[in-house]
Amino acid sequence: MDQKKKLFKLIPKVDELLEIDSINKLIENMPRKIVVDSIREEIELLRKDIRINSFKEEEVNERISRLPGLIIDRADKKNSYKLKRVINGTGVVIHTNIGRSLISEGIIENIKDIAVNYSNLEYDLDKGERGSRYSHLKDIIVEITGGEDAMVVNNNAAAVLLTLSTIAKNKEVIVSRGELIEIGGSFRIPDVMEQSGAILKAVGTTNKTHLWDFEKAITEETAALLKVHTSNYRILGFASSLSAEELYPLKEKYNLPLIEDLGSGVLIDLSKYGLEYEPTVQESIKNGVDIVTFSGDKLLGGPQAGIIVGKKKYIDSMKKNPLTRAFRVDKFTISALEATLRLYLDERVAVEKIPTLKMLSIDISELEKKAKKLYNSIIGRMDSNNCRLEIVDSYSEVGGGSLPLEKIPTKCIMLSIEKYKVTDFERALREYKVPIITRVYKDNIYIDLRTVREDEFDIIVDGLLYGFNKLKGCIK
Ligand SMILES: *Cc1c(COP(=O)(O)O)cnc(C)c1O
Repeated sequence: MDQKKKLFKLIPKVDELLEIDSINKLIENMPRKIVVDSIREEIELLRKDIRINSFKEEEVNERISRLPGLIIDRADKKNSYKLKRVINGTGVVIHTNIGRSLISEGIIENIKDIAVNYSNLEYDLDKGERGSRYSHLKDIIVEITGGEDAMVVNNNAAAVLLTLSTIAKNKEVIVSRGELIEIGGSFRIPDVMEQSGAILKAVGTTNKTHLWDFEKAITEETAALLKVHTSNYRILGFASSLSAEELYPLKEKYNLPLIEDLGSGVLIDLSKYGLEYEPTVQESIKNGVDIVTFSGDKLLGGPQAGIIVGKKKYIDSMKKNPLTRAFRVDKFTISALEATLRLYLDERVAVEKIPTLKMLSIDISELEKKAKKLYNSIIGRMDSNNCRLEIVDSYSEVGGGSLPLEKIPTKCIMLSIEKYKVTDFERALREYKVPIITRVYKDNIYIDLRTVREDEFDIIVDGLLYGFNKLKGCIK
């Protein structure tokens, strides 16, 4: 017992630790309370270790010598934002868990201008009276898509719910069984339908739905025909579904609105850039769909939003639906979306400036160049005795439930560490101050060059060194 008391006495007091320069300096950049709490917590951890272990004096002194570093790490962590940037090494371009699409760097000024100043958000500058926040995006969406009218809500889930609630409340909506989708995060067509008050009438079978399936189901109670993009899966083999074009004659014959949830909402022909062909919003409109809904932050490459395009009479009633208020977009979204959509006025500019499109269309030779550059930066600063580093061929994914079968050839940095568990290394990289999210495959770490920018290379190298250091790995 006496021995333990002696060991406890070796631990510096809070005030003493606060006097240490490197710790004291922290107070310039963060609240003093965070620093003091971090000191107390590290001291408490050490006391606990002394209590349960039979440490010798040298061991305790060694632990004490490491205290300042641990305190600084802990304080930095406590002081960092909870929502923070990460490095996407996964190669999944539209990764819903880490922020989906990135905003184009060039439009930040526009968002800032709206953020720090008053704006005409709901003010009609012509009339000098109250205006509508939905007016700002209408013209540009109409111009790009060819629709009659447009409005924007918080996300596509809201767009679908608002559409069904406005057009089909207490009435029936006919949809193919092959399109009763669930996408991640609990968006399921049958559930959304129920929430909207519309009654789901599923027709056809999982793999085949014919026009006569739809026609047979039409009654007095039918309010709309619905087509849903099977974003994240495909039914292959003995299968057929109906396109909007094929449904059109039926919609005309029975005078019913045709609604299409397009999911991703592509505005340009992606097959020109080596990707699988994906029907565009413009085509849906051309094929006579009355209301098309799609996301702002999937393949469109803008902010989170749900875009509704189509016949004015339906959109007018949507604006009167009380749900619209609950789903309304904020001014940052409107400004980011307007600026993103303007890039689409010239397709070459869109592909160059919108990160999602740029990452998806980047040439493999560019990826190879980037891979070599990153490889050299890592090799330059790391001892390769304990780890192996290679540039390898692999595949990236589009993500966001878009083009699920598409495997895009890419280049990756592959790291294998002999002495340590790959999962421990992967975790260490996630714990870096700018967390690095990687892919683990067969005991190797992969960093896909498609989803990292060159200006992130330094962070990646520092993060790898941090990771190795943490594992006491192959540091020089
Ligand atoms: C992604 C998706 C949604 C949901 O869109 P959010 O913008 O994430 O709300 C709805 N329908 C389909 C077909 C989708 O792919």
